[in-house]
Formats: sequence, C-alpha cells, structure tokens
Amino acid sequence: MPQEHQRQCQACGKVWHSLVSREKQVERDNKSNSCNVCAQMCNPAAQLQAKHNAETNQSELSRLRQCPQCGSANFNERIIDHSKPPQQIPR
Ligand SMILES: [Zn+2]
Repeated sequence: MPQEHQRQCQACGKVWHSLVSREKQVERDNKSNSCNVCAQMCNPAAQLQAKHNAETNQSELSRLRQCPQCGSANFNERIIDHSKPPQQIPR
C-alpha cells in the first residue's frame, strides 16, 4: 500500500504530503547518478549531464522536503499508511 509523509510546517502551519515511494525513487536516482559520474570521467559531456541530473534530483528532494507555502524546512512529520484507517493528529 502507498505510504505518505504528512508534514506540517512549523512556521505557517501548512500541511502537505509527499509519497514515500517518490522520495525513495529520487534518492535511488541520486546514487545511480553519482556512479555515472565515476564511470564517465573521460567523457566531459556525459559527466556534465550526470552532474546536472544529480542537481535536479537534489532540488527535487529539497522541494519535497520544504513547505510549499513559505519554503521553511522546519516541519513536523509522520508517515501515513493508506492501508490503515486515518488517525487523529495529536495536539
Ligand atoms: Zn510554511
């Protein structure tokens, strides 16, 4: 079942969701991209492309991990498992 990070911004209170599988995918891509950089040392163009991909992934990850409203990275987080009934958020 899909799992989501539920995050609440501590600066403005905005709540947003990010798929666990999505973040894992981006992290996997980051790792394979750094391998490409090693493998293609003799090819500056490919190296540049791999570096670019890595940076894109990095910003994708930080985008998922910051408040979409105010940009703060200061948030509370919990995992939502959609195979279970919704729970109350403790206050
Ligand atoms: Zn915010």
